[in-house]
Amino acid sequence: MQIYLNGKLVPQEEARVSVFDHGFLYGDGVFEGIRVYDGNLFRMKEHIDRLYESAKSIALKIPLTPDEMTRATLATVAANAKRDAYIRLVVSRGPGDLGIDPAKCARPTVVIIVTSIVLYPAELYEKGIALATTSVRRIPMQCLDPRIKSLNYLNNVLAIIDAKKAGAIEGVMLNVQGRVAECTADNIFIVKNGWLKTPPELEGALGGITRAAVLDIARKTDISCSETRMGLHDLYNADECFLTGTGAEVMPVTAVDGRQIGEGKPGKTTQRLLAALRELRVKDGLRVDYDAPVQLPRIA
Ligand code: PMP
Repeated sequence: MQIYLNGKLVPQEEARVSVFDHGFLYGDGVFEGIRVYDGNLFRMKEHIDRLYESAKSIALKIPLTPDEMTRATLATVAANAKRDAYIRLVVSRGPGDLGIDPAKCARPTVVIIVTSIVLYPAELYEKGIALATTSVRRIPMQCLDPRIKSLNYLNNVLAIIDAKKAGAIEGVMLNVQGRVAECTADNIFIVKNGWLKTPPELEGALGGITRAAVLDIARKTDISCSETRMGLHDLYNADECFLTGTGAEVMPVTAVDGRQIGEGKPGKTTQRLLAALRELRVKDGLRVDYDAPVQLPRIA
């Protein structure tokens, strides 16, 4: 596997970063997870935009322009000759000293990994999954804006540990007000009386690229949708519920905290949206030219 590291493609074994990197020491950095579907980088522009917005929020200057980052990503996918893959873009604050002050970090570390995706088993899309509400609340935006996709995932890590203890494979995270924010690594939707609803980002949700794609599909079809605050009561009494994420795509949810959702099987709207997303994923994005000579933009 060839890894992009600070302007060069290097074999996996040689892709090493410093123990003084503030990404390692403090989780100081940002990242993206992107899917490649049959040579198409799904919604690449949206992922790049989110990466640069996250970086701007944490005052991290990425040493590549968005266009250069896009070209570096395309080159790394082509160099690994993968038509279906999961890409991880990481930009950390870079090596500094043991203090937290990022002013000591002269050069951010830029990493692009193109690997195979670990998919949820296909049968889960037919059966749906059960969720458990975690006792770990989403960090409030007064402390850390949940729209920043940062390397600091301890809040979510603690939440997934808690959800798994309860026997679930994903957990619902509430905000400190007790309203539904999102899941530990996915956004959440419900359908009630034919209306599609998802919590607004400011409730404590990442602005998911898949979430936005699903809302776009709904707006372009006859599915009414809105970003609406909701409590667990709304979740428990929903006709349908599903998760969205780069890895999960559209994952049906058939139980929450031991309450059956709707008829206890994937709902019609959920299935329609999953099918529409699967159609979109090879069309909406950026195509990789696997025959183009590998040209990596120089890092300033
Ligand atoms: N929420 C969180 C906390 C996430 O980490 C993710 C990404 N796995 C999502 C939602 C879904 O976002 P996307 O559709 O962009 O993958």
